[in-house]
Amino acid sequence: MSTSLESTVVMWFRRDLRLSDHTALSAAAAEYTRVVPLFVWDPALLSRAGGPRLTYLRAALAALSDATAGTLVIRHGDPRQVVTQVAGEAGARHVVVTREFTPRGRQRDGEMAAMLRQADITFRGVGSPYAVEPGRVVKADGNPYAVFTPFRRAWTALGWEAPLPAPQVPWFGRPHVAGDVVDHDDELADGMPPADEAAVWMQWRRFATGGLDTYDQRRDLPAVEGTSRLSAAMHFGLVHPRQLLAELSDTPAHLTFASELCWRDFYADVLLRAPNSAWSALDRRMAAMPVDTDGAARQRFARWAAGETGYPIVDAGMRQLLATGWMHNRVRMIVASFLVKDLHLPWQWGAQFFLQHLVDGDVASNNHGWQWAAGTGTDAAPYFRVFNPVTQGERYDPDGMYVRRWVPALEAVPDRFVHAPWRSPRGVPQGYMAPMVDHAVERDEALARYRSLAR
Ligand code: FAD
Repeated sequence: MSTSLESTVVMWFRRDLRLSDHTALSAAAAEYTRVVPLFVWDPALLSRAGGPRLTYLRAALAALSDATAGTLVIRHGDPRQVVTQVAGEAGARHVVVTREFTPRGRQRDGEMAAMLRQADITFRGVGSPYAVEPGRVVKADGNPYAVFTPFRRAWTALGWEAPLPAPQVPWFGRPHVAGDVVDHDDELADGMPPADEAAVWMQWRRFATGGLDTYDQRRDLPAVEGTSRLSAAMHFGLVHPRQLLAELSDTPAHLTFASELCWRDFYADVLLRAPNSAWSALDRRMAAMPVDTDGAARQRFARWAAGETGYPIVDAGMRQLLATGWMHNRVRMIVASFLVKDLHLPWQWGAQFFLQHLVDGDVASNNHGWQWAAGTGTDAAPYFRVFNPVTQGERYDPDGMYVRRWVPALEAVPDRFVHAPWRSPRGVPQGYMAPMVDHAVERDEALARYRSLAR
């Protein structure tokens, strides 16, 4: 709470680049007479995020700058210094943020609070990027859930607040406080998801009147527009999951969509409780799984990363990722399984590559999605369940529309061979390649490695 009626607050935006249903911003607008909107380009973020994520973020900042009537202050540098500096320049004794829950975010905010305290400035976290704040869903005995389904039941029972409208904000940023001018020149490439609040809601309306009602039946089909494509908007907080949950009914399709939003909360919760699980096996028994990391392994990784494995569904997925910064969820699972169980590479290599290339790259959802596929994570995909890239393709892309879109060399291959072109009487078409490994052989190898752990 501010102590003076004439007081200034810095609203430091991070992964909450919106005005509506923004708990921290609403608190700032209600309690202070001047709100300085700030975004800091942290060199640590710049070194980790790849091109698509940064392009999307720049576009989202341009939109936020417009939404704050051009007052958004943008600075570069270590936030611990920059935020203190901006607060000093603006005469603000208070900084408000949306709380962060990743290991890095929590560490940074802890250091930030200590540093501001020394300058006699308060640092307050309000709200979270999740429907239910990580750490709140617990069993009757206070322990966390290790498995998704009971977590979802408890998550649903806890529930969430109704969304808040955008507040009237007394903005006090540029030109009173110096900051970079937002570059509006960044054009979002074709296929990039919308990066401003209004466009995000148009996208949602399109999905709500299109794919949402059949989400439970079509969400696994990569050739169709069966999912919302809102993951980047969700990652950067252009929309809050609470806002989408408020739009849902209790039909099976809508409940399936809510369940996917719950996976996002679940993984944030798991990461909060086990911060080391960002980069090491959550299931410690699996940490000793033998993986290949030599020069030959690096070469296999390079072929996977370039979409040149000779397995159409894997290559289509990787090419979609490289071209658009996004990949369909079913295909993410298939390419992840292939890297771990057919190529015997560390899941961390794949997770790192995804974070560099995904527009929605998010350490909790990504690294736990990888651990799920690798069988080292929470539940549901034990290591010995190995995805077959041919039958997965045949099941979820039966007419090959998806693989032909991203691997045009498969254009003339008959449907029944399109996921295994080497079986076609004409063989592998020109411009494509023979499979780099034999799935049946590598599956046995993966299972042998798994069994070696038990010995
Ligand atoms: P929709 O099907 O429309 O789902 C709505 C929202 O629910 C998504 O936008 C997302 O916020 C959330 N969601 C859906 N599925 C999941 C899931 N399995 N786990 C967590 N949240 C989910 N998602 C990311 O946001 N960032 C990542 O870096 C990421 N990496 C992944 C890596 C692997 C190996 C796997 C298997 C999954 C990963 N996912 C990740 C989850 C999922 O693939 C994407 O959220 C989804 O494909 C985004 O498309 P959409 O917005 O159309 O999803």
